[in-house]
Amino acid sequence: MKKSYMGKILMVDLGTGDIREETISNDVYENYLGGVGLAARLLYDLIPAGADPLGPDNILGFVSGLLTGTGTLFTGRWMVAGKSPLTGTWGDANCGGNFSPAIKRCGYDGIFFTGISPKPVYLFVKNGKAELKDAAGVWGKDAVETEEILLAESNDKKAKVACIGQAGENISLIAGISNDKGRIAARSGLGAVMGAKRLKALVLAGREVIHSNDRKEIKKLRLKTMVFVKAQPPLNKGFLNAYLGKAMRMFPGQVALDGMLYKMMLKKWGTVSMNQLSIEVGDSPIMNWDGSHNDFTGRKSAPINPDVFIDCEVKKYHCASCPLGCGGICNIRDKNTEYTETHKPEYETVLALSGLLLNEDVDSIFYLNELLNRAAMDTISAGATVAFAIECFENGILTSKDTDGLELTWGNTKAIVALIKKMIKREGIGDLLADGVKVAAEKIGNGADKYAMHACGQELPMHDGRNDPGFALHYSVEPTPGRHTMGSLMYYDMFQLWKKIKSLPNPGIVYSKNSKYKADEDKTVKAAACSKFMNVANGTGLCLFGAFLGLHRLPLFEWINAATGWEKTPEEYMEIGERIQTLKQAFNVKHGVDPESLMPNGRTLGMPPMKKGANKGRSVDINKLVKDYREHFGWDGYTGKPTVKKLDDLGIE
Ligand code: SF4
Repeated sequence: MKKSYMGKILMVDLGTGDIREETISNDVYENYLGGVGLAARLLYDLIPAGADPLGPDNILGFVSGLLTGTGTLFTGRWMVAGKSPLTGTWGDANCGGNFSPAIKRCGYDGIFFTGISPKPVYLFVKNGKAELKDAAGVWGKDAVETEEILLAESNDKKAKVACIGQAGENISLIAGISNDKGRIAARSGLGAVMGAKRLKALVLAGREVIHSNDRKEIKKLRLKTMVFVKAQPPLNKGFLNAYLGKAMRMFPGQVALDGMLYKMMLKKWGTVSMNQLSIEVGDSPIMNWDGSHNDFTGRKSAPINPDVFIDCEVKKYHCASCPLGCGGICNIRDKNTEYTETHKPEYETVLALSGLLLNEDVDSIFYLNELLNRAAMDTISAGATVAFAIECFENGILTSKDTDGLELTWGNTKAIVALIKKMIKREGIGDLLADGVKVAAEKIGNGADKYAMHACGQELPMHDGRNDPGFALHYSVEPTPGRHTMGSLMYYDMFQLWKKIKSLPNPGIVYSKNSKYKADEDKTVKAAACSKFMNVANGTGLCLFGAFLGLHRLPLFEWINAATGWEKTPEEYMEIGERIQTLKQAFNVKHGVDPESLMPNGRTLGMPPMKKGANKGRSVDINKLVKDYREHFGWDGYTGKPTVKKLDDLGIE
């Protein structure tokens, strides 16, 4: 029987230069899939308790998905995992592009690095041979330059590169890892781990065939899914999305969103389709989470109308195996900068650099997008850190003496750009801020932590838990804190898992808005289902946006069976998701993570409630939600420690 996984990993000891292959047993795949599950299984065992995330004992894994390269759709994402230097917890991040199949084509489901190299190196894999090469020629270069130089050196047109930019080299705790010239696996600060290990890049040029058990079945299912992907009525002007958001805000009920609508918007505009809609509905935090659509009105947000982005788009692109293609390359309109093009900015980037800072200058966002992508610094964390610094400045905790003369006021575009440049270079005030808001607040003192919006050190994404308490819960309870891609009430509605798993609740077409804010069993069940499902998705390499089509249109469970020859039910796959989640939680317990430290800043939870805006008067009953979620998983409600019985039930040794 042919399997969709390669059955091997590569272990690289950067300290000794030792490189060896290891075989992974079928049991591991059957119980943990690939991707994040494979990484969790290995790293739980291999990273010693209390390991310094920037020290030699931390292990950084680059893993491909179980379904990557099998002919299934939306399954081309790779993940990087290790102990996060930003949070001290389990850390992972994922990214699209074309790097995920490149890992498998080298014959591996994952490549893992331990130790610290005495000098900058990169890993080169070709024709079954893996070697560490001198990276002196690219150390100091940004991610785009590095990729171009290493691709030329590889002399292989099919080679793919993942690398760090200046942020990772400078061991900025908000550094990510770039592939496809500026797409970033941004969260958890894992670029700093690469920098600390003096590992500049991976260059992969393998040619191995990726198999699957039943290609005919995969194709049959793919054709059915394509009917939904292709359905694309003409959509109106982008600015109308703001009115849609306004209507959603004013409508007394909550419509259970069908992901087909989002799919259509993604296909036309990309994630920026949500820019103004999210501001109006109360999903996007404004002015460091202290403002609302009243502060960043439709007039002020007009420059980030989604049409502005596609008007600059010169090329659309797709990730590996994606039929939708939400990505694009845009012209940078400001001719006074050193760059002419950038990846189409993502929703998270645009809002972290606009509404969060009251910055109305869209040209600065294109430019900062390119600067941060080249530095491979997380745009969410960078924007959140600038918002923190502005609020400290506005409240006299930082003065122009501390900021090298920068007037850090809301919407001061010049100061925002100058500050981010300093953060990338770790220069002056930028050195203080380059490790994110938690570290900066600790160093500044004087009550600065009041303005630091993070969960366990990770800056919060651009989705407001006061609008959708599901986000607040996942930020507070996931083993990787502050993560917006693991679940929310909106995601639950779009996944439509109840069509595959009869025990899960069907929210109906419209439900009461008030019911969203009740910390009842319904929220626990939905959040747990999202977490379990997203671990399956991240084990296979699935893009979250593919999952938004709904599991009745995107046959993920059926594809796993067809690719591997297994005959598991959706319930059995959800149990695998639960196993991965519990093992990641056990990782945090092993490393002594204080469960209280995962709790985000009270402001983000409506404590105290806002006095104006879409989220006026709302607060999230987070303690009950978190306790119920943990108990649902068979973890202790207060400490988060998985019970021995639960570990036994899930077969976790
Ligand atoms: S939907 Fe967008 S991010 Fe997801 S796989 Fe397709 S192109 Fe990549």
